[in-house]
Amino acid sequence: MKKIGVLTSGGDAPGMNAAIRAVTRTAIKMNMTVLGVFKGYNGLIHGDMKQLDIRSVSDIIQKGGTMLYTARCNEFRFEEGLQKAKAVCLMKGIEGLIVIGGDGSFRGAADLSARGIPCVAIPGTIDNDISMTEYTIGFDTAMNTAMELIDKLRDTAQSHDRCSVVEVMGRHAGYIAVNTGIACGATYIITEEMPHPVEDVIERIQNTQTTGKHHFIVVVSEGVGNSQDIAKKIEQHTGIESRATILGHVQRGGTPTVRDRVAASQLGHYAVELLSQGLGNRVVGFQKGEIVNYDIQEALSMKKGFDERLYRVAMDISF
Ligand code: ADP
Repeated sequence: MKKIGVLTSGGDAPGMNAAIRAVTRTAIKMNMTVLGVFKGYNGLIHGDMKQLDIRSVSDIIQKGGTMLYTARCNEFRFEEGLQKAKAVCLMKGIEGLIVIGGDGSFRGAADLSARGIPCVAIPGTIDNDISMTEYTIGFDTAMNTAMELIDKLRDTAQSHDRCSVVEVMGRHAGYIAVNTGIACGATYIITEEMPHPVEDVIERIQNTQTTGKHHFIVVVSEGVGNSQDIAKKIEQHTGIESRATILGHVQRGGTPTVRDRVAASQLGHYAVELLSQGLGNRVVGFQKGEIVNYDIQEALSMKKGFDERLYRVAMDISF
């Protein structure tokens, strides 16, 4: 393979830049030319790309976001869009493509691979909701950001004897919630995998009140309920002043942690190695700490387990 493309797609995640850097430098070392494609599959369809050299990816390893920009691209879901993208690849001489994104982006990578452009996908999403890998780029940074913010909320909750209901990101995936919940000593954690009625939260708060606890953190995963309503109900039933805070997109930004930079570098390097061997329709990730690759369809059909033991740890020690 002489020329490859790299793009970021779907939601951004801290560490994507480190992955772009690793892909670019590994490919250049293997005497390949690298084209950076802008705004996900949109850039592929419209030929919006530029050649990346060694210095194009300098000074980005420590930056959040993605220097290639990211976007969603509805056109790419249809045959016409896929054919346009394929034609652009052929015209530009792109023989293989690295796609950094979530499972939606992987579907696109599988579709393009099936049309003759081999793609290798790298999991980049703060939610850690990709089944074939125990780790996705951005997860650690997002958790640390959420943890720091919840710590700050705790300061004010403690000073006022309040309850702070904090909504963290992770739609359909409670990994950020359970980990930050433990790390911040949350009295209760509600996720889609571990749904609990607000009555359970109220009962636990009332029980812990009897042991002398005056302030409370409740971590709620995005999409499992309205955090304002939860705070209101807690206040009504316990008399404890309760406030809801939605952390939102702040969790997506920021300088990536060591773990994200290292994981992104490993995955980027490995993805190029696979592509250089002519392999396509693969997704890379980690299992039991080892770097692995899977067929994209197989990866998409896998189911991720929720660590109920970790959840139990949270509930057993924070009361
Ligand atoms: P993420 O990659 O973070 O899961 P999305 O689900 O929005 O984000 O997917 C990103 C992009 O991947 C979409 O905008 C689209 O271009 C492409 N994509 C998603 N699903 C498919 C699909 N079923 N077939 C082809 N392309 C898809």
